[in-house]
Amino acid sequence: MSKTIAINAGSSSLKFTLYEMPAEEEIASGIIERIGLNNSIFTTKYAGEKYKVIEDIKNHEIAIQMVLDKLIELKVIANYEEITGVGHRVVAGGELFKDSALITDEVLAQIESLAEFAPLHNPANATGIKAFKKLLPNITSVAVFDTSFHTTMPKENYLYSLPMEYYTDFSARKYGAHGTSHKYVSERAAEMLGKPLEETKLITCHLGNGGSITAVKGGKSIDTSMGFTPLAGITMGTRTGDIDASLLPFLMNKLNITDINDMIYILNNKSGLLGLSHISSDMRDVEEAAEKGNEDAQTALDIFYNRVQKYIGQYFAILNGADAIVFTAGIGENSPETRQIIIDGMNWFGAEIDAEANNVRGKERIISTPESKVKVLLIPTDEEIMIARDVERLRA
Ligand code: AMP
Repeated sequence: MSKTIAINAGSSSLKFTLYEMPAEEEIASGIIERIGLNNSIFTTKYAGEKYKVIEDIKNHEIAIQMVLDKLIELKVIANYEEITGVGHRVVAGGELFKDSALITDEVLAQIESLAEFAPLHNPANATGIKAFKKLLPNITSVAVFDTSFHTTMPKENYLYSLPMEYYTDFSARKYGAHGTSHKYVSERAAEMLGKPLEETKLITCHLGNGGSITAVKGGKSIDTSMGFTPLAGITMGTRTGDIDASLLPFLMNKLNITDINDMIYILNNKSGLLGLSHISSDMRDVEEAAEKGNEDAQTALDIFYNRVQKYIGQYFAILNGADAIVFTAGIGENSPETRQIIIDGMNWFGAEIDAEANNVRGKERIISTPESKVKVLLIPTDEEIMIARDVERLRA
């Protein structure tokens, strides 16, 4: 038995889950928010209790030190050495990482060099890796990439219709994201369907604050809605999803914006459900406002459903049919209305929601009728356990 910790470091946050492995028993978890700002918030969950500390936490190294000390204080561990493995979520692995990797100095340098593909995320992920290395230099350290699962996409799906040398010279292509989540739910879906993963055709819908849809054939991603970066695809909390690139110079001219990065910032942070509704990026708020008759909120919802349906439709086409549609992540797991509306609009494809089974939040189950040709599954995602499993696999 050994303890393994899964780490998800953002630019100002750090999430952790501690497992007893190989039993896969979750022991403790937590989150530190507002790292580098004042009044940072450190929340730990252990044995059904929640512990909250508010104080200034200057950087990721101090944050990790606090996590380890808290685990000792709560007697979760007796000393640092009890943790023998750490897995770090890394957003961009480019074409370099087709699988998770043991972190060496070279791997760390490669993660940093991939910052071009994920300027907000990879530097933060690397900061978490370095901070852990300093405090626990001798434990097994593994990087798990959001993009790895999508490296099985065929050329016709990952290439843009741009001059070929932009791909060959600059690696400009689709990489996708949320791979760990799509992989987890695909594996669970095969088990729920009682079918070998290699024989399944699935459309997995990760609908959270960020969202992506993936066509999974035989357990391998063959296409996904996010693109070169996580900006592309469906409408998200604050992101546009797909738009016509010609709108950018047009809008920059109208808005007197001269720096393209300012425009991209709007597409990433001021658009999506938030931009359309001017209520919130949070689905709960938008649903509530629409229910009270707010027209823009209703339009935001209609656009969201529409974009999800269009991607599901595309993936029915390239998969030539599917065994199941899977819903996961914050909205996918917790909004029965979203699932119902999306599937009701696609009955022609042979999917039918069972209203009673669908009336549930966050529980793994089949939510289609017994007659439904295409099954509809609700599967809460678990990216952390996938990270811990990869630490075990690569340690062996
Ligand atoms: P995630 O990024 O996976 O944490 O998902 C966050 C999204 O899930 C936000 O848009 C939340 O509003 C949405 N969400 C969480 N709980 C619910 C709920 N009960 N009903 C509708 N949306 C929810």
